[in-house]
Amino acid sequence: MTKNILLLAGDGIGPEVVAEAVRVLKWVGAHAGTSFHFDEALIGGSAYDAVGTPFPAETLSKAKAADAILLGAVGGPKWESLDYSVRPERGLLGIRKELDLFANLRPAMCFAPLADASSLKPEIISGLDIMIVRELTGDIYFGQPRGVTMENSHRVGRNTMVYADWEVQRIARIALDLARVRGKKLCSVDKANVLEATEMWREEVQKIRDAEYTDIELSHMYVDNAAMQLVRAPKQFDVMVTGNIFGDILSDCAAMLTGSLGMLPSASLGSETGGKRAALYEPVHGSAPDITGRGIANPVATILSAAMMLRYSFNLHAQAKLVEDAINAVLADGLRTGDIMQAGARHVGTKEMGDAILAKLDTLSSTQRGAA
Ligand code: NAD
Repeated sequence: MTKNILLLAGDGIGPEVVAEAVRVLKWVGAHAGTSFHFDEALIGGSAYDAVGTPFPAETLSKAKAADAILLGAVGGPKWESLDYSVRPERGLLGIRKELDLFANLRPAMCFAPLADASSLKPEIISGLDIMIVRELTGDIYFGQPRGVTMENSHRVGRNTMVYADWEVQRIARIALDLARVRGKKLCSVDKANVLEATEMWREEVQKIRDAEYTDIELSHMYVDNAAMQLVRAPKQFDVMVTGNIFGDILSDCAAMLTGSLGMLPSASLGSETGGKRAALYEPVHGSAPDITGRGIANPVATILSAAMMLRYSFNLHAQAKLVEDAINAVLADGLRTGDIMQAGARHVGTKEMGDAILAKLDTLSSTQRGAA
């Protein structure tokens, strides 16, 4: 059966890293007997330049029709002076909202060959495998009222943290389901000591766990402590669940544990309707304007995002694992893009890294066939 994949390459290094992930997906398609059909659409600053909006209607209709979406990145200095309503980031927030992509899965894994690259000691980071589940469609990014107004001759900036109980319950279920197939431990992160909205969050997560997931060990942690614990002893965590803004910050903190933003994938999932779940896969990093067009961006985060697509949208678990193994093997061979460069390693560019991963896929799959 044909799987329709929509490519939203976006801005900056987006097109460079998406191109490498597409090569990997094509390899998997050819070897798994699955036919992937690729379509493309505009998003972000490049969409604004072409049609005057960061999230064109055509992009939305293609996104709704697709089985899965692979996005590069949006944004850059060129569009920073635009009104907020047409900034590239509005494209990203728009697609999340329109497809109701409420669950953002951000794994932070430490590939063994990179344990030395972390700013933390290898014994603290080695073997790290945590999953941060970030609520993505609510919270202060969407709450009303918002904006800057004049009040008593002063400019006043305002954003509002809002969560409804059902929003907390559905993200809690996603996180508890993940915990069930992983280490059976969930830590819910909030700021219940000062923010009523997150006090409600805490109560609702606890309610769902007590009613439906008594096999899962649930703990609660304030966000400031969670940030500290992530750096002090990250391996204490298995699955973490939190709101949109706390998740934004904590997942970038987790990113640095593993060495580089260039290594971190993500998945954003919606509700399941008619047997189909809306799903967008993208690297955690942004458009990296400082290195755009130089062929030096690390494509691994995007390739790992494609592996998540294989796993969560297409149930191709063995193929997802093969892609991850190929990346691990390439790193073990000492190949590094600039962001993860280490003494004695071989410095490669974006395409060379893609080439090496494809070659490793060939080797690993023929080894597997030989063993079978
Ligand atoms: P960034 O992630 O783009 O870059 C941060 C640093 O990490 C830079 O030094 C960059 O060169 C490096 N980096 C990022 N990805 C890399 C990769 N794959 N390989 C090698 N190095 C990499 O974050 P930023 O500089 O804060 O933001 C730049 C632009 O991206 C802004 O316009 C921002 O709004 C946007 N942004 C978009 C997204 C997204 O599309 N999801 C996420 C974050 C930021």
